[in-house]
Amino acid sequence: MAHDFDVIVVGAGLAGLATARRLTQAGVQVKVFESSDGVGGRVRTDRVDGFSLDRGFQLYNMAYSEGKQILDHKSLNLKKFRKGVRLLLDDQILELGISISNSKDFYNHFDRAATFKLIKYLVALTVSKPEDLARRADIASSTTLTGLIGRNEIVDQVLKPFLSGVFLEPNLNTSRRWLDQVLRFFVLGSPGVPATAMDSIPKQLIRGLPQELIQLNTEVTQVSAQTVIANGREYSAKYVVLGADPATNARLTKADAIKMNSVTTWYHAISTRHRGTKTKLLAIDGSTNPSLLTNSCVITDIAPSYAPKKMELISSSAVGIHESDLSDKVALDHAATLHSLNPNQMSLIKKYVISQALPAANSPFVSRTSAVQSSGIYLASDSNHSPSINGALASGRITADAILNNIHRGNNS
Ligand SMILES: Cc1cc2nc3c(=O)[nH]c(=O)nc-3n(C[C@H](O)[C@H](O)[C@H](O)COP(=O)(O)OP(=O)(O)OC[C@H]3O[C@@H](n4cnc5c(N)ncnc54)[C@H](O)[C@@H]3O)c2cc1C
Repeated sequence: MAHDFDVIVVGAGLAGLATARRLTQAGVQVKVFESSDGVGGRVRTDRVDGFSLDRGFQLYNMAYSEGKQILDHKSLNLKKFRKGVRLLLDDQILELGISISNSKDFYNHFDRAATFKLIKYLVALTVSKPEDLARRADIASSTTLTGLIGRNEIVDQVLKPFLSGVFLEPNLNTSRRWLDQVLRFFVLGSPGVPATAMDSIPKQLIRGLPQELIQLNTEVTQVSAQTVIANGREYSAKYVVLGADPATNARLTKADAIKMNSVTTWYHAISTRHRGTKTKLLAIDGSTNPSLLTNSCVITDIAPSYAPKKMELISSSAVGIHESDLSDKVALDHAATLHSLNPNQMSLIKKYVISQALPAANSPFVSRTSAVQSSGIYLASDSNHSPSINGALASGRITADAILNNIHRGNNS
């Protein structure tokens, strides 16, 4: 039977793009249908009045194993955060750097035995293989941390608020298996943002690929192993890859919905003359009664091109959905406190409420790496590997390789 394409990929997020790129480079004829007006999925950036606004605060880490294989790190020109935190406490704000080789800020401020246990844990992660970490007996991250480090201020004031912003859930129910892998990335690499914002990542994935590969503004409403209905028209392919967001993937395959964590990000501007001392640290609230924000940073301290000249951009996020005007006021005041700024000199540029940000990775967490479903439909998604840019890219690679193997074996040709 003659097909319209060798492979149809539904969705031009990182997972779909990674699949399409690998297959195209192997000489396979691919078509990507993307429902929105651009590529990147959850990794997109809006340009507003000279500011670059990532759709929700997120970071890339040079230690991402998949990123190393598929992306040109040099041309991403990653601007890195300093490792550590700017920490708001009840009566002071501290700037605490931390690395395996230099943890004196932590030793000076926190209980020495607890600091030692934390460093020991981090060192152990760096010498572990990711596949071994993924196989450990699984429990919640909160239980893991109090078990390893004890009940103390490092856990309550630093690790819990910091990790809530990484997992996008406040109770640290996230799996220890995923915690270990995330911390390993943090220790081995430095998180940051590309000099010209997060959408540099999808832009790089499509560089050099044929323009007709991706058809935007094309919503897929039905899928089977060899057909899709896109914008009301049926197309056929030897292989169909579902690379939409987890909720859509589940709906189109009539699978159970995947629990997703939510986040709200506010972008505020302030004039450079009101900025004060720069810091490349992520600010978190470790006080007894923390206010709304989970984390905040002056992103232009790290990557100046996020704002027009003489302006600074502050990115602040809170776990969950915060639609109200009151939340905007609280977020503004909290961000000002975290950065020792005057809220009257700050203005809201835009706010993003993202209900479907990250697949929850509660324990027991299994990185599902099987690319093909029983229906014969292939899946490429962070939810099919691990909730991160690295997970989306890995899922895309695994799916492309599964199809290439099939093609080489002569199946479906
Ligand atoms: C606010 C936020 C913060 C994050 N922080 C980090 C971080 O710091 N570090 C990190 O590593 N990861 C982070 N992530 C996670 C990371 O962005 C995702 O894991 C990854 O981008 C998921 O890629 P994906 O391709 O699996 O899915 P998606 O990005 O969801 O892509 C799916 C694509 O399919 C399209 N689509 C949907 N339905 C259809 C349809 N019916 N027909 C056609 N196309 C369709 C969508 O428009 C989209 O383009 C964050 C995510 C968010 C939202």
